Amino acid sequence: MSVDNYSYPMKIAKDTLVFILEVSRSSAPEEFAGMLQSTGDIISEVVIVPGTESSDESAVMQLFMLPNISMVGTVHSHPSGNLRPSAIDLELFDRKGMYHIIVGAPYNMSSWACYNSKGEKVRLEVVEYEFKEENEEW
Ligand code: ZN
Repeated sequence: MSVDNYSYPMKIAKDTLVFILEVSRSSAPEEFAGMLQSTGDIISEVVIVPGTESSDESAVMQLFMLPNISMVGTVHSHPSGNLRPSAIDLELFDRKGMYHIIVGAPYNMSSWACYNSKGEKVRLEVVEYEFKEENEEW
């Protein structure tokens, strides 16, 4: 039995995860890369990294080059469907935030994994989250 004793459990909004999967699917066979932002303990936003190139190394390099602005982690796709982080991925995880999502083909709710900064698989709970519209008029 695996015990999740990660000290700061994070969640992800279901809509955000669905968005990540959809963007990754539409980017394929090109890689998609982005960074994760949170509201409290819920990952609720993805900032897409522009100019993501076609190889895995390039997608990850785009993430490496980002300035250290506030983010909880990164996300990128592996069109091959292999969800294991590469050596370069592990170096990225160590340097850019605490939560790192890899999504792969066929881009459904079970074709993704989350890793911590040490490259260890962590559980990310998927939750319903109400996105607040700032200019909502009712
Ligand atoms: Zn990778």
